[in-house]
Amino acid sequence: MDEQSSMIDPFGRAITYLRVSVTDRCDFRCVYCMAEDMHFLPKKDLLSLEELERLCNVFIEKGVRRLRLTGGEPLVRKNIMHLVRQLSGHLETGALDELTLTTNGSQLERFAAELAEYGVKRINVSLDTLDPEKFRAITRWGVLDRVMRGIDAAQAAGLRIKINTVALRGFNEEEIPEMLRWAHGRSMDMTVIETMPLGEVDVDRTDQYLPLSELRANLEQQFTLADIPYKTGGPARYVELTETGGRLGFITPLTHNFCESCNRVRITCTGTLYMCLGQEDAADLRAPLRASEGNELLSRSIDEAIGRKPKGHDFVIDRHTHRPAVSRHMSVTGG
Ligand code: SAM
Ligand code: SF4
Repeated sequence: MDEQSSMIDPFGRAITYLRVSVTDRCDFRCVYCMAEDMHFLPKKDLLSLEELERLCNVFIEKGVRRLRLTGGEPLVRKNIMHLVRQLSGHLETGALDELTLTTNGSQLERFAAELAEYGVKRINVSLDTLDPEKFRAITRWGVLDRVMRGIDAAQAAGLRIKINTVALRGFNEEEIPEMLRWAHGRSMDMTVIETMPLGEVDVDRTDQYLPLSELRANLEQQFTLADIPYKTGGPARYVELTETGGRLGFITPLTHNFCESCNRVRITCTGTLYMCLGQEDAADLRAPLRASEGNELLSRSIDEAIGRKPKGHDFVIDRHTHRPAVSRHMSVTGG
């Protein structure tokens, strides 16, 4: 349905997928994502839920068919279910094909049933280990058992779950086979993600970096990985494990394998539009949003920004300075 989008970038890519970071706050402090003493944005800079909804509506009118809420942790935003309910109206009219979210799972026990009620069919849950102590170490503040109860609740509500795991050298490389058996045993797909150099954190990223080519070679010692054409519209390349019958996706952001088919843009909780996760260029949509009640100005600002969507990204972990290639944190743009 890409042809129906009025948002076509200079490289002919139709923009049909929007990721919306609804908050930069989080109840975890994952070591690769945030510093322990993260400074969050002042509340006044955040878009209200009504403003976020208006922004989403305009993107949907312009051709977005799939929308993902993320963050920070989307489920810690106050009254987030109000936004989910409002957006679910677009599922009912058929304007939107999919409404989904990426979550750390901590609040799922409370919200899973409501999400399902509002037409959410599948969600991504981020989980890097099945060991409670390691979980506490990597998230700094998280409690594994709570996330597990969230996963149970989501499955009981009929939500399909994909587990997202960041591959971290010396942390979970040995455990990933077990996690795969666990996920596939519960009918959940899994995706492994390479660490991306986004924002200053307290750890040295060059130590954490585990190339997925290496992980894949290790997995091939234990499993038969069959390449499959399965696509979710995202950057993951999928294989099927013959032994488990489940799917495993690889996201390798440091390679350029998905830029050509990139159909997505991101907005932050302050209304900044990022045309590429790996580039600094952005457009402020909050000013045009607040400048008038009508959406014309906003729509024009979006068109101008899409007109600048870059061909691809430029991630590098600089081994000399150890500084991130992109200074904003993942919790700002939402991954
Ligand atoms: N809080 C939610 C969660 O954790 O799922 C949503 C936001 S989180 C920023 C989205 C995803 O980005 C998570 O799967 C997380 O593991 C991943 N992520 C965060 N920082 C990352 C980094 N530097 N490199 C790769 N993935 C990262
Ligand atoms: Fe929070 Fe998600 Fe970042 Fe972890 S990855 S600190 S859960 S936003």
